[in-house]
Amino acid sequence: MPTIDNCLGCPYRYGVAVGPRGNPASRIVLVGEAPGDNEVAEGQPFVRRPGRAGGVLWDALDEVGLSEVDIFVTNAVACQPHPVKPKVAAINACRSRLVDDLERAPRAVVVTLGATAFRAVTEERDFRMRDIRGLQVDTKWGPLIPTIHPASVLHQPRERPMLVELIVEHLTRARRVAFGPGV
Ligand code: URA
Repeated sequence: MPTIDNCLGCPYRYGVAVGPRGNPASRIVLVGEAPGDNEVAEGQPFVRRPGRAGGVLWDALDEVGLSEVDIFVTNAVACQPHPVKPKVAAINACRSRLVDDLERAPRAVVVTLGATAFRAVTEERDFRMRDIRGLQVDTKWGPLIPTIHPASVLHQPRERPMLVELIVEHLTRARRVAFGPGV
């Protein structure tokens, strides 16, 4: 269980922690990086807003046929980082809270969104996203499929169709691993 001692080592310890959303009994857990302004305002990860990471993610989930009852969504870091990218000290301080969230959804397929989430779940440091994305990795919480972060789609507008297709492909794979090939 996370304790206040974990937060003491975190540079964002005065922030508002954003808890997970979705269904902890689901077979798919998504792990993002950290909440932004919209998530802090609404108190949940990946708020659906056009032109933001949450908009990209929920559009991709719609395309795959997954809704909020089919997934459980959390972040590597629970409080909003400043300026944007979470510091390693925050990822480390928040990890026991992340593990707690993963353990709330046993037997699920884990999908990490971006490098920070992959690093936080696996504690792996030496990897390149382009080498691992879409591959299945075994973890103590079950199979893990890394994909790119939906915000990367917003940062590379010319690559948008290809990147969205990649996220959809990886979510489709996660759905197949979670529910079987016929689903
Ligand atoms: N990006 C994330 O990684 N997590 C959120 O909750 C929102 C945007």
